[in-house]
Amino acid sequence: MRFDKTLDVQRAMAIYAHPDDAEFGMAGTVAKWAKAGVEFTYCMVTNGASGSQDPDMTRERLRDIRAAEQSEAAKILGVKNVVFLEFEDGYLEPTIDVRRAVARQIRIHKPDVIFTMDPTMRYGGGYVNHPDHIAAAEVVLRSINPDASTRQMLPELWQNERLEPHKPKALFLMAFGAPDTIVDVSGVVDVKIKALLAHRSQIDADSVDFIKSWMKEAGKKKRYAYAEGFKVLRFEEDGAPRRNVRRREERKAPQARGRRALRSTTPSRPARRSR
Ligand SMILES: [Zn+2]
Repeated sequence: MRFDKTLDVQRAMAIYAHPDDAEFGMAGTVAKWAKAGVEFTYCMVTNGASGSQDPDMTRERLRDIRAAEQSEAAKILGVKNVVFLEFEDGYLEPTIDVRRAVARQIRIHKPDVIFTMDPTMRYGGGYVNHPDHIAAAEVVLRSINPDASTRQMLPELWQNERLEPHKPKALFLMAFGAPDTIVDVSGVVDVKIKALLAHRSQIDADSVDFIKSWMKEAGKKKRYAYAEGFKVLRFEEDGAPRRNVRRREERKAPQARGRRALRSTTPSRPARRSR
């Protein structure tokens, strides 16, 4: 799918903290791109176990409920793969273990575009941003430089798991305010709502008008009925994070090709659960 003159997208990946984060911010774009043939992968970093005020609920039960809700929402949107990294909801920090887990998924799925939240968003509009959102987005930034893209960063991924470095062509940050890119999702708004409502433990039908009003607001400037807004960063294709990387890769080219060929016949690395 061609997003615009310079950006061709075959594979995309959303990396986010909790079940429903992606549906709120970008499910319209997911549905639209999936319909256009983009292979979408969800990578949910936490287990969603904190999202309840019900005293009779337990973290264990909620984790299972929310994983099922996320899988159902993904299916509605046409998302091909859902990866659950299962770090504890509410306790997420950009540790090296989280960074390795996320970089691994990026190297496995090789997305042209990665979506996440805006890690600079701390508060605004009567809302304090959840620290897991900030941590997950921070991990994504670190994956672009250096974790997923640099051969000698987390070398075990390459040496032990045969996962070559990968850098996406673009990063889309779900924008709370001041987006620079507006995606018209008028044609898939019902699919987005249906996917959101799959998160039954979190959202009820009363929230639909409220969610639609955000999307109307996002589309106003461009006169789209419903839209989603992003801040978009683009990266040079095959651009090296450091000046000397290209030369090193040339030197290692025969070996690198061998490893790539080998990897293509190797089944995907296991995530804890994957649809
Ligand atoms: Zn969240």
